[in-house]
Amino acid sequence: MGLAPFVWLTKPAEALNKFRVNLPGAILIHGPRGSGTFELANAFARSLLCSSPIEGAPCGECPECKLLEAGNHPDFKLLLSEAEEAIHPLPWQKEEKTVTAKKSLSRQISIEQIRSLSEFVSTSSRRGGRKVVLIYPADTMMADQSSALLKTLEEPPAGVIFLLVSDNLDSMLPTIRSRCQIVRVTPPTPEQGCAFLKAKNVEHPEEMLAKFGGMPLLYFEEDVKLKIDEKKEEILLDLLAKGKNLDSRMIIELTASDFPLLPFLTLMQRCCVDLILMREGLNARYFLRRKEQIKSASTALDLRKMYGFVDELAQNKRHAQIALNARLIEQDLLMKYKNCFVN
Ligand SMILES: [Zn+2]
Repeated sequence: MGLAPFVWLTKPAEALNKFRVNLPGAILIHGPRGSGTFELANAFARSLLCSSPIEGAPCGECPECKLLEAGNHPDFKLLLSEAEEAIHPLPWQKEEKTVTAKKSLSRQISIEQIRSLSEFVSTSSRRGGRKVVLIYPADTMMADQSSALLKTLEEPPAGVIFLLVSDNLDSMLPTIRSRCQIVRVTPPTPEQGCAFLKAKNVEHPEEMLAKFGGMPLLYFEEDVKLKIDEKKEEILLDLLAKGKNLDSRMIIELTASDFPLLPFLTLMQRCCVDLILMREGLNARYFLRRKEQIKSASTALDLRKMYGFVDELAQNKRHAQIALNARLIEQDLLMKYKNCFVN
């Protein structure tokens, strides 16, 4: 497979390999979250530093590869947001990182991280080769971070290559985008996604793939803020399946159990999408095994209200990181959810 860490990344990996001949100053790899963009960029970064890559992939044996593995390569700068670092634990960090559910992890690269770049790029290569900067995610930056990054990209020092990874091209500054060569990653086909999960011994691969929107890697994310234990998830889904029969006692019981807000919102969104789909006579997208339940709840659905409610959920999600009172928000949303059904 060469450079591609997963089969569905063969094409973008080929595109990256073509750049080797005449390496640009910056490459932007973009694709949906969980499609393997970061993994591909990481493999490419390593192969650029490796002294004898094999078919475009890092050899894993040379001194450069050993330094990379130990997280010690002086010419590699990896900038990950706190949240991404929790999801993609770096090999040398496994022990020390203990993420608690309460701690709010930043989804953004910090301005300090961007500032640390200027020193990195302005000093000469310590190992005598090129220097590589990998930034993920490059799309959630605020104006400050973006303009600091832009400054560095504007005067790209020779021998330094920037690999930017983005889940959402639209939210990137056009001025940054225009300075990059762009490589697009498309998600796996359902067959590839299922085969991947099956090979990892995941039970019910088809259903799991649907649940994670066709992105098999999301199954393995260990971000505690995004993933909750299955028992809790089932309790919420049981409750949502009640539709108009939901009562306030159930709502209070559920929200009293310290249900983390972000997964709460994600599960609700998905359940609402399934309700709408089934009401419209289409197949459920996320919770296939609850199809019958969802279908029967959807018969009492007020579609117009539900569409408005789905918008509201999305808004809440945007502010979930800074929400002060998760319990109240959850109670309020569950009441509104109940009102989306005709009595
Ligand atoms: Zn190597």
